[in-house]
Amino acid sequence: MGGTKLVCAIGTGPHDVRAETRLANTGPAETIQRAVTFFTEHTRRWPLAALGLATFGPVDLHAHSPTFGFITTTPKEGWARVDLAGPFRRALGVPVGVDTDVNGAALAEHRWGAGRDLDTFVYLTVGTGIGGGALVNGRLLHGLVHPEMGHMRLPRDARADPFPGACPYHGDCLEGLASGRAIHARWGAPAESLPDDHPAWALEARYLALGLASIVAVLSPRRVIVGGGVMARARLLERVRHEVRNVLAGYVQSPELGGNLDGYIVSPALGDRAGVLGALALGQAARAPC
Ligand code: ZN
Repeated sequence: MGGTKLVCAIGTGPHDVRAETRLANTGPAETIQRAVTFFTEHTRRWPLAALGLATFGPVDLHAHSPTFGFITTTPKEGWARVDLAGPFRRALGVPVGVDTDVNGAALAEHRWGAGRDLDTFVYLTVGTGIGGGALVNGRLLHGLVHPEMGHMRLPRDARADPFPGACPYHGDCLEGLASGRAIHARWGAPAESLPDDHPAWALEARYLALGLASIVAVLSPRRVIVGGGVMARARLLERVRHEVRNVLAGYVQSPELGGNLDGYIVSPALGDRAGVLGALALGQAARAPC
């Protein structure tokens, strides 16, 4: 589930999606009802074993909380304090797994993609916003709430980059400086309309590298998977790898960090399917908790 649309799918994995639909996000009551209808209409043919919800956050993930599965404080119109999991659980009568879209995508990449055989890695998406999920020692990382990697603070040289940032909470956090929304606000044009040789991309690579180097320092991931619409830009991933090497400055020693990092900082193997496959993986995990 994203800010503008909700994708519903029934299946068991990337090569076995039996039904799928894309619904516009028209507010919580109507959108959730249409999604419930999609699943109930298909249950006679394909009885569900479980349901996974991979959603924008923040979302309450504490199993014993009275607001478990609720969207909490989002600025998204109408969605604050909405019970997301409850209507599905009551209507479908199956176990419901809930997590952030990025934790879901990390789990899908672990099952079927670029994180296979790794017990500790990070999935970061750089799109309209920036979010990160993590598998740590084989488990999705939650803790206090769930990681909010997009909101880590970065050093910004205000003389070199006077743009104060686009995050309504922090200004110049990672998302405030490097998300698609931030690029649009800084340059007055959408990221996809800027040419490859625009100065935006050197700055983008630098800020993403500062964020990734902090992630490497804190979580020691064995790989970092970086997806999202902004990363579709030609050569951006290469520039990010180069800058990460500069920022780490040779301090963190590991064979994976030798060379040009092309096996360490990688694109999602599931591409833009990581989101919906993340929901399938969360549904499977709800039957056998991960
Ligand atoms: Zn922020």
